[in-house]
Amino acid sequence: MQSALAKFASVVMLLADGARPETIATALDSGAVPALARLREEGGLYSVTSCFPSVTGPAYAPFLMGRFPGSIGLPGLRWFDRARTVCSFPDYARSYVGYQMRAVDRDIDVGAPTIFELCTPSLGALNVIGRGLAQQQRIGSISARSAFRAARTHFAGNLAGWLQIDRDVASQVRQRVRVERPEFTFAALTGVDKVSHSRGQNDPMILDALKIVDDAAAGIRADAERDGRWEGMSLWIISDHGHSRVTQHEDLVKVVQDAGFRTMSHPWLYSRSPEVAVMVSGNAMAHLYVDLPSRVRANKLDARYTALGKALLARPSVDLMLMPGDGGALVSSASRGSALVWHDARGYHYVRESGDPLKISANLSAVSADAAYDATIQTDYPDSVVQIAHLASSPRAGEIILSAARDWDLRARYEPIPHFSSHGALHREHMMVPLLVNRPIHGTPKRTVDVMPSALAALGKPIPPGLDGHSFL
Ligand SMILES: [Zn+2]
Repeated sequence: MQSALAKFASVVMLLADGARPETIATALDSGAVPALARLREEGGLYSVTSCFPSVTGPAYAPFLMGRFPGSIGLPGLRWFDRARTVCSFPDYARSYVGYQMRAVDRDIDVGAPTIFELCTPSLGALNVIGRGLAQQQRIGSISARSAFRAARTHFAGNLAGWLQIDRDVASQVRQRVRVERPEFTFAALTGVDKVSHSRGQNDPMILDALKIVDDAAAGIRADAERDGRWEGMSLWIISDHGHSRVTQHEDLVKVVQDAGFRTMSHPWLYSRSPEVAVMVSGNAMAHLYVDLPSRVRANKLDARYTALGKALLARPSVDLMLMPGDGGALVSSASRGSALVWHDARGYHYVRESGDPLKISANLSAVSADAAYDATIQTDYPDSVVQIAHLASSPRAGEIILSAARDWDLRARYEPIPHFSSHGALHREHMMVPLLVNRPIHGTPKRTVDVMPSALAALGKPIPPGLDGHSFL
């Protein structure tokens, strides 16, 4: 029995939503999360890059599909379906905050497999992307009752309630991993993100949220050691995005209205003949869709919308503005000028025009994804070239994409809880995330998109073609 189970390979990913590498490292050093500290000793703690937008939902795609979100049809937490292919009349808008969360599985590329479809049996908890999971393989996800309970907790801004949801989910995951022995398990615990938004990421309650992750890891490990599964188990702690302080909120919708445009935005989507859809994620990034009746994205904006872009870029709340077109994007910063970013069969390109908005200090010409990573990893915008190239080439991206300036986010109204911290942007604080593994690895993990193919490698499974990442094992 023991030796048979020792050969049983399994992967368990526990996602501490919104945890930064520094937050995890500090907690490990403090002695408050001993099970996680033991993983670091025996395996390792790495900092890797997430994706743009660095926001829950889209940023789960790397872990569950090995793909960047723009590549598989999730350009943001909120987006406008210009092609009118998946969202419905009258607004053709999507928001994964709330009941439309269940639409994710219909929105993602049918040709790109999820890890749940490749591993059986699988188990998912609060996994957002769930294609391939039967209802009984999902914990606490989108049954009407749990959605209602989660919404009530969210709207009450009740942090203790959120941590209780994490505890419930963690204990169900532990029990089902022990009894059902799934080949692959993904469980998201969202306490760190909720506490960070509503109290800031230095609040002592962050440690309470991490202790739940620690307890889950300790329990899953103890069970696996007891019945001989630990030897074959990969237990990885991950996060999908970071966080940074917000002191000022830009009312982006009002800014666009004041510039003379009729807008459409959540939560009140109905408006007469809207001209610009304002779709904010995280809340430190936004897609703006212009000329809404058109079903295809314009490659070049007309004078009115070019002027709008100029006005937006001049706002202190906007750090970077991307304008997709011709297979790439014009990237602009008000103080550092513009450059072109694109990706073609030869590789990734960054060509400075009037300046160096991404602070790379060099042009990149036909470089590999790895070289583009190395050129940007020490800058304020880690992996920016690859991330911008992929998001800009998504047919579902807006004509204007904004990444917020430090201390700012882009939504001032209709938030159920006050935001003292946000994410979504291309900044380091949002893009760098921890990866904690229970065994030494030989390769160097770079991106969250490498995690899914690594999990398949750990399970001895073939890695499907077309992924954006590669195994670090
Ligand atoms: Zn969040």
